[in-house]
Amino acid sequence: MTELNSDVQFIKGIGGQRAKALAKLNICTLRDLISYFPRAYDDRTQTKRIQDLQPGETACVEAMVSAPPTLSRIRKGLELVKLRAVDDSGALDVTFFNQAWLKNSLSAGETYIFYGKAEGNLLRRQMANPVVEPLGRGELTGRIVPIYPLTAGVSQLILSRSIRQGLDACAAILPDALPDDVRQAHHLCRIGFAYENIHFPSSAEVLDLARRRLAFEELFLFTIGLRRLRSRRDEVRVAPCSAVDMGPFYAVLPFVLTSAQRRCVDEALADMRSGKPMNRLCQGDVGSGKTMVAAACVYFCVKNSRQAALMAPTEILAQQHYNGLAPILEHLGIRCALLTGSMTAKTKRSICAQLAAGEIDFAIGTHALISEGVEYQNLGLVVTDEQHRFGVGQRAALAAKGESPHMLVMSATPIPRTLALILYGDLDVSIIDELPPGRQKIDTLAVSGGYRQRLYAFLRKQVEEGRQCYIVCPMVSEDEDAPDERKAVTEYAKKLQTEVFCDLRIAFVHGKMKAREKESVMTAFAAGETDILVSTTVIEVGVDVPNATVMVVENAERFGLSQLHQLRGRVGRGSCKSYCILISDNKNEETRQRLRVMTQTGDGFKIAEEDLRLRGPGDFFGLRQHGLPGLRVADLGCDAALLKEAQAAADTLLAKDPALSSCPATAERVTELFQQNADTLN
Ligand code: ADP
Ligand code: MG
Repeated sequence: MTELNSDVQFIKGIGGQRAKALAKLNICTLRDLISYFPRAYDDRTQTKRIQDLQPGETACVEAMVSAPPTLSRIRKGLELVKLRAVDDSGALDVTFFNQAWLKNSLSAGETYIFYGKAEGNLLRRQMANPVVEPLGRGELTGRIVPIYPLTAGVSQLILSRSIRQGLDACAAILPDALPDDVRQAHHLCRIGFAYENIHFPSSAEVLDLARRRLAFEELFLFTIGLRRLRSRRDEVRVAPCSAVDMGPFYAVLPFVLTSAQRRCVDEALADMRSGKPMNRLCQGDVGSGKTMVAAACVYFCVKNSRQAALMAPTEILAQQHYNGLAPILEHLGIRCALLTGSMTAKTKRSICAQLAAGEIDFAIGTHALISEGVEYQNLGLVVTDEQHRFGVGQRAALAAKGESPHMLVMSATPIPRTLALILYGDLDVSIIDELPPGRQKIDTLAVSGGYRQRLYAFLRKQVEEGRQCYIVCPMVSEDEDAPDERKAVTEYAKKLQTEVFCDLRIAFVHGKMKAREKESVMTAFAAGETDILVSTTVIEVGVDVPNATVMVVENAERFGLSQLHQLRGRVGRGSCKSYCILISDNKNEETRQRLRVMTQTGDGFKIAEEDLRLRGPGDFFGLRQHGLPGLRVADLGCDAALLKEAQAAADTLLAKDPALSSCPATAERVTELFQQNADTLN
């Protein structure tokens, strides 16, 4: 019998050769194959008469080739096959580029279906590179055709044939991960029906049924998995922290915490006193003051005689946290240290020794904090900053350095509730929904490149008033796979320095620079020794220079909205009026609309929701990057209602049967999905 986890090469009709090609798409098992869902569908069910084809329209025609196709070589690398096809209404000129084999495979006097975009005019109709297949075959035309994401060497046809074979091979053995009563109660179709029709739908209605069922299943299994992780965590006990007088901490701060900050601190401290490990996400818009929430927790933890660690995604950020927090905390008797990868081996060794001996209370750093050989005497609290840069695995690696330490995860990316429910189903969530007082709105403009001269004049004026500016350029490159950020940034900076702002102090920073260089550039900028900093998104998260008032983003269309919001958050941190200028020459309506959102609102949650709506959840943070099983069908932007339904169903089932003994297929699938992740989540 065929198993779902058997290797695709053993499926009837798929050999080693094709299996190798499929492996490039991460399709290795039968399960992978049938779960490789189309990214879109083309409705090729309607056939038109040639005469009725409107120029510009994409459609099928059924027509007979009226004379043998001709092949001509226009020049090296360009071969043309031309033919004329006719039906009872008219004639169509068809051209194929670089598909010379068609000359012999298409015969005069045979009828074919051509599917493509009609061009030419009403007197002379043409199609270039249409899909073509013999009448009656019905694989590529005559139905709703699935469109799969492809890679070199794997065509749509190969994929859909392979998937056909796969579905046939497992039709009888597909276990249904949805218990039958759940399936019935929510009006969901059977598993076999769903797989068949997500790939080869006979109509749009049936496709909807299939999609709904598979999306529900994903969300249902996902919820059960997260609930289980959570209940496992709930069983862990740690010594509860004791109450601490927080007065001295609040007294040394240069400001009063906002009530939202206070609430988050209180929630976190309550967790740490509960006797269970804290696992809390603190979510707040850029500039909402998450760092001080972390600092309060660190103070609390250290006063409970345990060590704390704060992990930042970049050296720049780690350094900045150290600069900001160490003076405050050391004043309170807390011994702080910075640990980053670029430090000399000797320094690192000495810090590690002190950490292991308990002579350092609070370590701030990058990934270096979780590298091998770093040991803590008594690690009680782990804070990770800007969470979306870290996977669950990295969080877990740091947690493993202590015995179930408390975990506080800080995210500056406001996440729409629907997504938060999924992503952080295993975490408690605190939200800082208030900015410190006195913050001003950042004026945001979306302009085209034609505005650049005026922009430069504006930057000059700001600099003359003593302010500083950022200019962010994306990695522009011919070669999308190996974008050269270094070149983009250095050339831009050079051009500005030599052609536009000869008398101003221009500096640049990018990710390829050595940590020490980056640090010195950032330090100089923070000290006001640089007027304009040209950069990549290395400054995206967390960097805090209150005197910077202008953020210019070149080729703004290349960034996600949430990313633009992060970039914008680098200004407006002081008392001066701040501006964000998004430059884009892209006229695409969707792009315009996205950038318009930025000019209309400063609310990170709204922006994130809009981003999710416009971009889809596909690359939104990436579930897999978080170490959670990805969602293939469910669309978190659109399926919020379905998510609620699936969660309710999962909770009902778990309440009745926490061990899932009544539905082994469900239990097995959840275990499978969370297998790689189970040990790393905590
Ligand atoms: P983020 O949430 O983006 O990490 P930060 O913690 O970097 O925000 O805080 C942004 C800025 O606001 C910092 O300069 C910080 O000192 C300041 N800040 C934080 N909390 C308050 C407060 N309650 N009142 C005034 N300023 C504050
Ligand atoms: Mg921050």
